[in-house]
Amino acid sequence: MVVELISVGTELLLGNTVNTNACFLAEKCAILGLSLYYQTSVGDNEQRLAETIQTAQKRSDVVILSGGLGPTQDDLTKEVVANVMGKTLIEDEHTKERINDYFTKSQITITENNWKQAFVPEGAIVVDNENGTAPGVIMEENGKTVILLPGPPNELIPMFMNDIYPYLNKLQPETIYSKMVKVCGVGESTAETMIKDLIDNQTNPTVAPYAKVGEVHIRVTARAKDEEEAKKMIKPVVKELKARFGKNVYSTDENETLEEAVIKLLEKNELKVTTAESCTGGMLAARLVNVPGVSEVFREGFVTYSNKAKRKILSVQKSTLKKYGAVSEKTAKEMAKGGVFATDTDVCVAITGIAGPDGGTEEKPVGLVYIACYIDDKVTVREFNFKGNRSKIREQSVVKALTLLRE
Ligand code: ATP
Ligand code: MG
Repeated sequence: MVVELISVGTELLLGNTVNTNACFLAEKCAILGLSLYYQTSVGDNEQRLAETIQTAQKRSDVVILSGGLGPTQDDLTKEVVANVMGKTLIEDEHTKERINDYFTKSQITITENNWKQAFVPEGAIVVDNENGTAPGVIMEENGKTVILLPGPPNELIPMFMNDIYPYLNKLQPETIYSKMVKVCGVGESTAETMIKDLIDNQTNPTVAPYAKVGEVHIRVTARAKDEEEAKKMIKPVVKELKARFGKNVYSTDENETLEEAVIKLLEKNELKVTTAESCTGGMLAARLVNVPGVSEVFREGFVTYSNKAKRKILSVQKSTLKKYGAVSEKTAKEMAKGGVFATDTDVCVAITGIAGPDGGTEEKPVGLVYIACYIDDKVTVREFNFKGNRSKIREQSVVKALTLLRE
């Protein structure tokens, strides 16, 4: 089944609002196994919106529009869709009551134009909005579907998940089931080469890699008559992926993050960790603290940006800094060791590098990062040469540090 997205709003065209709705909806469509071939952004303009809807209806089975359901003059999605489909707008009693309740509860005075939101195209399925006034709308005609969703993400996301997702799932003649194999420590192109045969030769299940910073996520999706059968089809492919990537697979749980996997592993091994960060300035600690209940494993971390801080807090030798510099194997090692001795922990990861844009030399270019790990009286260090701007380099450093913690 072919689905198409239309994001309505001049603010999207002007670049004032990032189109996160399209991103969210596209991802969900992929999970549902819907084929998405087109996404369009269009301003709050009657004629251009009408043209966009007509084009979309010709080439897609389901058209999902977001935005422009508000009470103001420039919100005209519902009116234009009704017009294009030859429907009149009729007042929906239930929505009228809901809007009334909404305003009474939030103690805001209703203005006349708010009642406009109680009107829906005749014959449409009305979808309640639990976080706002504009209802969602589903219209079915000649085997095709048009869905209207409110623009604000805090309204669109719950409405989509509660009502639209199950609706679309039912429209599909087959069940779609997918699993995510999450890999770290393998570059994007290497990963793709390693599974090229699977990507190219599989149509059901499909294998699709997505590159993330320092990680590759591989989605395996199967279509079958029911979930059980789809799961059966996915199993050998996931097994094959695990065999190919070995210990680089950190999770097959869609929602598990790398930091969660790391914390779990440390917990299992009853190890406490600390961090000693220079160029990442606490980003690694922040990632670890993303995980709820982390305090069992992570109690404190250090940001030692200056040489003085490295010496004072982590006991890095003055001579080391002088001879090798702050960005060196030796400094990283001493930072890691110092971190463990400064705390009551078993493991310390230390990061020191040149994040740029200044500070690079021929010998030590921007992107040069050393990451050391101290555990069991042993300290290992790795050298990296990351590409990209300051934030990319810092982000990659953090992911690599997490990856090293898993090893
Ligand atoms: P409202 O009742 O708030 O007017 P609406 O359905 O008319 O809702 P819009 O007017 O199009 O929606 O957008 C309202 C707000 O929602 C925008 O200011 C913007 O912040 C956000 N928004 C709209 N479309 C998108 C989008 N595609 N991605 C992210 N945010 C969006
Ligand atoms: Mg609006």
